[in-house]
Amino acid sequence: MIKKDITIDLNCQFSLQIQSSSFSSIFKAFLQLLPQLLEEFFQKTLVSFAENEMKSTRKSFACKCCGNDTEFKWKTRHGKATCILTLFCWITLRQLQVECKRCGSKQYITRTLLDMESKKRVPDETRRKLALIGALTSFRVSEKIGSMFGWAINKMTIWKSVQLIGSKMEFMLDSNEQPRGEADGTGIGIKGIAKRGKELKVFVQHKKGGGIRVAGADIGNYNGSWKNIFQKSIEVIKSFNCPFLLMTDGDTSIFNSLKGKVEVLIQRCLWHIPYQAKYFLWKDSVKRKSKEWLHVVAELMEICAIRPLVDCQETIDAMLESKRNRLEKLMDYCRKQGYTHTKAYLENAREDMFTAIENRLEGKTTSKVERLFRTVNMRSKVSKWSKQGALNVTKVRLAYYYNGFDA
Ligand SMILES: [Zn+2]
Repeated sequence: MIKKDITIDLNCQFSLQIQSSSFSSIFKAFLQLLPQLLEEFFQKTLVSFAENEMKSTRKSFACKCCGNDTEFKWKTRHGKATCILTLFCWITLRQLQVECKRCGSKQYITRTLLDMESKKRVPDETRRKLALIGALTSFRVSEKIGSMFGWAINKMTIWKSVQLIGSKMEFMLDSNEQPRGEADGTGIGIKGIAKRGKELKVFVQHKKGGGIRVAGADIGNYNGSWKNIFQKSIEVIKSFNCPFLLMTDGDTSIFNSLKGKVEVLIQRCLWHIPYQAKYFLWKDSVKRKSKEWLHVVAELMEICAIRPLVDCQETIDAMLESKRNRLEKLMDYCRKQGYTHTKAYLENAREDMFTAIENRLEGKTTSKVERLFRTVNMRSKVSKWSKQGALNVTKVRLAYYYNGFDA
């Protein structure tokens, strides 16, 4: 493909039967005209560009046999038909064929001119657009909306595009963004898959200008998923000149695959702690909203509330000491009351509650992933999915909403 502006004179002649002069008749007829016009336009433009190249010495193609890239003669401008998928419909192009003046071998140049791989029938651009449409709404709705605009692209093609584009998407940490992230999982409602045990795991990175980007995603029911997710980013974590701060809502098995390889500081999501504690209080049979229940929850809310923008080290130290004491007292209270589950939970969380503030790492100690889950989770509830299928559509959605993917 050579970049050079060319003027195309399009003089097409079309004959159409139109039933009446009503708006809908004319519009319907135009939609029928569209594919023909598109085909004609592609053909004409390709021939014009090819003519131009044939006249000049420099070619965008070389002979596949002898490597000659200057001397060719036309074989045909309307050769064997080939089909290519546009966003509207399939179009049939008559291939352009040239002959090498040096060795006499013939070759088609249509796809070279189109900047497409040989034999490929669906351009990447079409795939990406279809994948995005199919990831943003259901396949049935995609097909319906398309048909209103005169498209003739079926659900299967859209589905396939989502799968192809999604499966090729790779997420990892960006060394230009913050050395800070969150790892979280959520039960995912996948239609067609038994709900039990399937979890969408997402690793996000905080961006310098605020907001988040996705650095890893997987769907699985085992912790091996996390290993795969982190593996890709290990080198990036090493490239930061400070420890990586990873926030989580408590599933520490997440980090087993990182141990010993990189320096990672763990911060429990403080927002989650009082909520998770409610579950353990329930397990300990503490009556909801009872005096005892309220005491534990309210104390935890206070302990977990971190006032931002405190930049005096002495104040921070005093604040931490006070919070730690309060937490110890609360655990003591739980022990006395016989709340064994709640006490064990707090004991476990204690280590990683104040990591960020202790290390004077600014930033939020509450999770941003909640919202992300709400955003991406919806799509897999529509249509029937395999595990891989649901992951692929989720990846395309994540990439669109968080990583700037656009078609
Ligand atoms: Zn040749």
